[in-house]
Amino acid sequence: MTDLHRLSIRELSEGLAEAKFSSRELTEHYLKRIEKIDAQVQSYVTVTAEQALAQANAADAAIKAGNASALTGVPIAHKDIFCTQGIKTTAGSKMLDNFISPYDATVVAKAKAAGLVTLGKVNMDEFAMGSTSESSYFGATKNPWALDHVPGGSSGGSAAAVAADLAPFATGTDTGGSIRQPASFCGLTGLKPTYGRVSRFGMIAYASSLDQGGPMARSAEDCAYLMNVMAGHDAKDSTSVQKDVDDYVVNLNGTSIKGLRIGIPKQYFNVQGLDADVKARVEESLKKLEEMGATLVEIDLNMTESYVPTYYLIAPAEASSNLQRFDGVRYGYRCENPVDLMDLYKRSRSEGFGPEVQRRILIGTYALSAGYYDAYYVKAQKVRRLIQQDFLKAFENVDVIAAPSAPTTAYRISANLSPVEMYLGDIYTIAVNLAGLPAINAPVGFDKDNLPVGLQLIGNYWSESQLLSVIHQYQQATDWHTKRAAIAEENA
Ligand code: GLN
Repeated sequence: MTDLHRLSIRELSEGLAEAKFSSRELTEHYLKRIEKIDAQVQSYVTVTAEQALAQANAADAAIKAGNASALTGVPIAHKDIFCTQGIKTTAGSKMLDNFISPYDATVVAKAKAAGLVTLGKVNMDEFAMGSTSESSYFGATKNPWALDHVPGGSSGGSAAAVAADLAPFATGTDTGGSIRQPASFCGLTGLKPTYGRVSRFGMIAYASSLDQGGPMARSAEDCAYLMNVMAGHDAKDSTSVQKDVDDYVVNLNGTSIKGLRIGIPKQYFNVQGLDADVKARVEESLKKLEEMGATLVEIDLNMTESYVPTYYLIAPAEASSNLQRFDGVRYGYRCENPVDLMDLYKRSRSEGFGPEVQRRILIGTYALSAGYYDAYYVKAQKVRRLIQQDFLKAFENVDVIAAPSAPTTAYRISANLSPVEMYLGDIYTIAVNLAGLPAINAPVGFDKDNLPVGLQLIGNYWSESQLLSVIHQYQQATDWHTKRAAIAEENA
């Protein structure tokens, strides 16, 4: 079969179960595509071909023996922020270029237990700080829709790999939009779950109170399959929540669009810098949902102006604390010939971290310092609570809230945005993390340059099934999620 990369996760699952093809064939098919096409896209940091083939053989044996799960033998790519035992785990940084993890992240362990085949580790902004994937030590990943554009970030490698059909789906992480925004830029579906739904154990920390792993795929249905693997309580992560996990696949048709109240925040559609094509496509998608039976309700989210300043205090504050562990002593990069301990710390950190990471460590350390802690960090925490309350109030009257995922489509590579311009691009995604809510991105069309546009739906706590179901039904009625970048049409 030459078109295995066109099959959905359900089709892959059924095809493997019915022995239409083997996991070995499927895995070899993807590895060949990676070898042929990824030089242009640069989505993978590490391809684990040998291990993948061994896992594929084991999967084929399990399928034959009748021991298979729904996903046994299906390939996956992991964002290089998830620790993988025996395999380099870099977080996109020179600091971890030599780091071989001694253990698997819980998400990776669960993927293995489900029989998924790891194709490799995919690129990302350094320590997940960024919106373009250009801050990676390993160079910029390209957007499969236009190779001179970024795939978004920080999970840009995950998005580009899936959009170029170099993996059927991938894991991502979202601290302030890093699943939703690259999904938007690459025409994919991506779900940021409720904080605490997916274990953070073994997921290299950026901002611990915001970080959350989730699925990135071509459709809500594909995401649901991966959520079934990723979600659940983990005793190794004290912030993971003990709450029953839904069967996200079974629930795909569980929410009625008829009567669904979709909140449209007035403030969101008047943001300066909201691209006209993005606005138009998002409004068209909402119109479609209205035709399908939903009711659009105008709402107020009064804290919109506080999102960027609040996030860009809390996230760097937590990052500065989390990144203290990279000291050149225990693991990671160590400078050459240190003259004393201070020199070792200083040079290891200034040589090992890139400029964006250093900027954030500086901002965060400043905000947490004795004289400024109350004025900045504590204040930001209070505003964070107001932002959460603003959402909860809105959810008294609506079921989900609609927004763009990003004000623009994908930027050009080397667009040279200033840090502040870049941070302003996160306006639609970061409040969701500050409040710990779930949200999904789905492709809803293209701009004048044929770059994908994404719709974001934000849900109340634990409404992952509802979000996936609404988007699944939208995708049954439309075909945006079936569109492929030209490079994905190439055969290996
Ligand atoms: N762009 C945001 C940032 O740079 C979000 C990144 C993320 O979600 N990891 O912090």
